[in-house]
Amino acid sequence: MKRPEKVCANPKCNDRITDYKSTRRKFCSTPCKNSYHHNKKLEEQEDSIANERAIKRLKRFLKEMQELEIESFKFKRDSYFFDNVVFPSQKLLKLDNGDKLYVIRFDNILINIDEKTNLIKIIKHE
Ligand SMILES: [Zn+2]
Repeated sequence: MKRPEKVCANPKCNDRITDYKSTRRKFCSTPCKNSYHHNKKLEEQEDSIANERAIKRLKRFLKEMQELEIESFKFKRDSYFFDNVVFPSQKLLKLDNGDKLYVIRFDNILINIDEKTNLIKIIKHE
């Protein structure tokens, strides 16, 4: 039985796959499949390096803000500065006055992000 024609799932290839046994086949050839997965891995590594750099830059920035005693600032998520930042997960912090606040820790600096206003607050916490 003739199967419907498929296109190779490797975006750099896009060859047509006309003759295949398994319907689950996604790539035109094994080398093509391997190269796709290899490239994907490289891209993921580049993303995580970019994220690491962005986090480092952010930590430096937060430290400066703290030294200047700037307590909060607004940020643009799609700005160059924050574009590559994948924020670490938030943790619930109990403040001295009993209030609870979601914070993200960068070394010894805690911040709170208001998702609605994109306001970053630097939390004073001993
Ligand atoms: Zn291919």
